[in-house]
Amino acid sequence: MAVVALLICTLALYEQHKGIYREVQAQTLATMQDVALRNKKGVEKELYNTQKLLSDITAVIQLRYPNIESDSDLKDIVPELKRFASTYGFKRMGVILPNGITYTTDSYVYDLSNEDAYLYGMQGLPNVTESLQDEIGLPDWINVFSRPLFNQSSEVIGVIYAVYHTKSFKELLTLDAFEGEGYSYIINTDGQVVSDSKNAPMYGTQNLLDSLLSMDKQNAETVSRLKDTMATHSDTYDTFEASETQYLYCAPLEAELLHTSWYLLTMVPANVLDSRVAPILQHQNKFLLIIMTVIAAMFIYLIVSYRKDAHTLHNLAYVDPLTGGDNYAYFLEKLPRMATGGYMVALDLSEFKLINSICGSAKGDLVLKSIWNILNKHLEKDELAAHKSADQYVMYLHAVAKDVLLARLRFICGEITSLAEQHNTVQISPYFGIYETTDTSNPEECYTRALQAKKLAKDDTKKNWAFYEDVDVEAITEKKQLVDHFDTAITNNEFEVWYQPKYDVESHRIVGAEALVRWRTADGTLIPPYRFIPLFERNGMIVTLDEYVFTTVCKQMKEWERQHKHLFPISINVSRASLYYEFILERYTEILKAYDVDPALVPLEVTESATINNQQIQELVERFRLAGFPIYLDDFGNGYSSLATLNMMHFDTIKLDKSLVDYIGDSKGEKLLRYTIKLAKSLGMKITAEGVETENQVKFLQTLHCDEIQGYYFSRPLPLAEFEQLI
Ligand code: C2E
Ligand code: CA
Ligand code: CA
Repeated sequence: MAVVALLICTLALYEQHKGIYREVQAQTLATMQDVALRNKKGVEKELYNTQKLLSDITAVIQLRYPNIESDSDLKDIVPELKRFASTYGFKRMGVILPNGITYTTDSYVYDLSNEDAYLYGMQGLPNVTESLQDEIGLPDWINVFSRPLFNQSSEVIGVIYAVYHTKSFKELLTLDAFEGEGYSYIINTDGQVVSDSKNAPMYGTQNLLDSLLSMDKQNAETVSRLKDTMATHSDTYDTFEASETQYLYCAPLEAELLHTSWYLLTMVPANVLDSRVAPILQHQNKFLLIIMTVIAAMFIYLIVSYRKDAHTLHNLAYVDPLTGGDNYAYFLEKLPRMATGGYMVALDLSEFKLINSICGSAKGDLVLKSIWNILNKHLEKDELAAHKSADQYVMYLHAVAKDVLLARLRFICGEITSLAEQHNTVQISPYFGIYETTDTSNPEECYTRALQAKKLAKDDTKKNWAFYEDVDVEAITEKKQLVDHFDTAITNNEFEVWYQPKYDVESHRIVGAEALVRWRTADGTLIPPYRFIPLFERNGMIVTLDEYVFTTVCKQMKEWERQHKHLFPISINVSRASLYYEFILERYTEILKAYDVDPALVPLEVTESATINNQQIQELVERFRLAGFPIYLDDFGNGYSSLATLNMMHFDTIKLDKSLVDYIGDSKGEKLLRYTIKLAKSLGMKITAEGVETENQVKFLQTLHCDEIQGYYFSRPLPLAEFEQLI
């Protein structure tokens, strides 16, 4: 904006100058015309007066000497003329006899038969000559005014003339305007100089137009233009080049006695104009200088505040508020412009939450800031680091051999871990995911890969770093696809519920079933639950899926009831994540109500790991029980199990994990099984054995009075249609 203002000002200034210049130029030209016309009047008057004087003198002579006829009579008037000459200041006067011989008042006698005075005079015409060098007497410049002398019968009998000092014209022509720098010439049609003003440069007293031509090539045009206007007998302005540019005003002189035309040329050097303009411009410039200074100051102020704003903006965009160092946005922006080839390193801290919760978040922030300082300190030229978020950092380090890189990271790691002692906090354990790349054009993708490697490092018990090369990319992409398609899968009913029947140990008749989910993708592939359940448990999608299965089973139960089929309890798996969902009990009872299903027909399977050590979940499970849902303890004996759990909570049924069932045949294992079943039974819980595959196992479980058997020995999980055939 300020730039525009300055520009406008400069333009205005320029226009102003031009305007002033034009104005003064117009004034100067007007003055020039004024002066020229005044001079012209003066010269014209002088010509007229001198001629009139001569005519009066001639009249007096004719009166005095009415009978002049002969040459001797003419000679007689010379003394008379002498008086007039001295009275009126002529250089001399004279009379020319018809034969061309003149007798002058200063006593010269010579031939003038070739001169204009004689030639015009004898034709009865008055005349004035151009300036001539006086050939007699003092060699100064003269103009000769002449008139014929008539006898009584009006015949020309001779010529009377007066010699006029050219310098009298000079006086007339001299200009009082233009600080003495202006000057003028009188010239005739050919350019011949009649007279010049006092201070006129001697451009040549002979021919002014010729000397103009010889002074500068450019004057050729001026001269040709001048000649044209002179021919039309009109006034004109023009310029010409002498040592400098000059203005010129040309006006024709009007005088009766002129046989050739005379022109008055007034000339002023162009710099006279400048000297007139200068003071005005100086004044103007001062004023504008003040204005421009004000604008410039404003401009500088604007720039400074803009810079300040830009700086603030930069800080907002690129500075991490916690560490005061570069943020991830800056990292992303900068990386593609750096030398390619190097390592993208994702850094994380395990269990950083502990520092915040045990030592306070102020301590936590201090540690995060210190870590940034360490990273930043270790950066070499063309390396980058940024605080990504929370306890996450990213670095871009030079391409070096892997062991060199690892040595660097170990060193950095050492400094970071020593922060615990320095700041008196719990242990700080960094771990790194490393992606080696030659292409940094897509930094986010590089970072994602480093993150995948970091995940691997997190699960690694032997080292705290991992390279992207070791990441099972396919598994990751598959997982990502599954997660991405979850929502559409739910809406498109891609999840199928299969049923695995449970059999009575004694009668070998179906007494119930477990609902197990499968994913039939759009292209017909069936994805088993181990591929997606753990994934959805981690990201919480399992809550939706569990509810979906629960709803499907309830709906199915209602359908069977409508078909008057015998109704078996169908147990449903509820994952640990679902139990954390606040309104699960309300949701499930609502669904029950919607399909009018007895909760006794939809027992819920929960795992021991979900309930152990969590008071809240134990209470929730208890509330489910009170709402009428039988609760099964799933996967009992798969490692986490402790018999103590059985004492702490009441379950309706214990589901023995396949790993326990597989002990059958081993005496120690059988013993463990026997005790477990005995304990559960004594606590009033029923027993279901899972993963039963052999007749042997069935027989053994019979002897232990296990209640129900679920396993491939009797049946695999079946799709709805097959299960319906079975019941
Ligand atoms: P689970 O709850 O322990 O389910 C029993 C699993 O053992 C089923 O695997 C079943 O097919 C398998 N199985 C049954 N009898 C035998 C046998 O004799 N031999 C062998 N080798 N396996 C047997 P499935 O259907 O692949 O399900 C795997 C796990 O996925 C389930 O283990 C359960 O934890 C989870 N799951 C399945 N459906 C759901 C669900 O709707 N919600 C939740 N939260 N988890 C589910
Ligand atoms: Ca189960
Ligand atoms: Ca199980």
